[in-house]
Amino acid sequence: MIIIKTASQLAQYLQKQDLVSLKKGFVPTMGALHPGHLSLIDASRNANDLTICSIFVNPTQFNDPRDFEKYPVTIDADIYQLEKAGTDVLYIPAVNDIYPNGTHLDKSYDLGFLESVFEGKYRPGHFQGVCQVVHRLLDIVQPNNLYLGQKDYQQCMVITKLIALMGAKEKISVNICPTLREADGLAMSSRNMRLNAEDRTIAASIYQALTMIKNELHQADLTTLQQKAENLLLNNGFKVDYIEIADAITLETVSNWDGQQKLVALAAAFLHEVRLIDNMVLN
Ligand code: AMP
Repeated sequence: MIIIKTASQLAQYLQKQDLVSLKKGFVPTMGALHPGHLSLIDASRNANDLTICSIFVNPTQFNDPRDFEKYPVTIDADIYQLEKAGTDVLYIPAVNDIYPNGTHLDKSYDLGFLESVFEGKYRPGHFQGVCQVVHRLLDIVQPNNLYLGQKDYQQCMVITKLIALMGAKEKISVNICPTLREADGLAMSSRNMRLNAEDRTIAASIYQALTMIKNELHQADLTTLQQKAENLLLNNGFKVDYIEIADAITLETVSNWDGQQKLVALAAAFLHEVRLIDNMVLN
């Protein structure tokens, strides 16, 4: 695995004669890697000649500075795991390599409705920061395939929209990979390592609440299910941002379901200061 630290070196490397025509898969991450991340590397290796991963904890997507400060960094273990997984190129930029003109938002992306609900609503500015960094990374790497996790359901929609706004829909295919979970159902996440032992046990209630909605979808109306799921989280000591049922394509909240519309349940909730998100496609 080649480790590259600057955009100019990476661009130079990828433009080498013998690499330029290769099919490239790209896996952007913020590090503190777990098997969920590595499943994206596997997916990329299976369909591309060259797999490029980036590790960059992007300051502009953190609406909460404490969350940014506390974001886990495990770079040596990450390098070891990526090497073992067969990654070809690892790009680890510094902040000024991604943001040579500083971290202020120099352009705004029109994400429409997507930015006003769920993560967009509860983390103001978050998706603008995501677009800023992903736009820059895609410009540098110019992949044929991009690999994202369904764990971040709304982010997948935002990045798909970003690629359309960039006019790159024909060039870059978005591949959405399933959420990898711990044995008790908790979605794997870099933030899980910040949970204390007691909260780690409780954390699986998010998965239980989503599973309950899925299992009882045909037995109760959606408002009742939403309330029941929210109560399950509240009774387990979560501070709930949302647990809602939405149209899986548009993300508009659904309360009257026609039995056909494709649905997704989405949740975000805090255990102490650790914010966890998860989702489940229901039908
Ligand atoms: P992050 O490092 O959290 O920014 O995540 C990098 C990529 O890995 C994103 O596309 C995530 O959606 C994806 N990812 C994170 N957790 C999981 C998981 N448990 N299963 C599959 N993909 C994941």
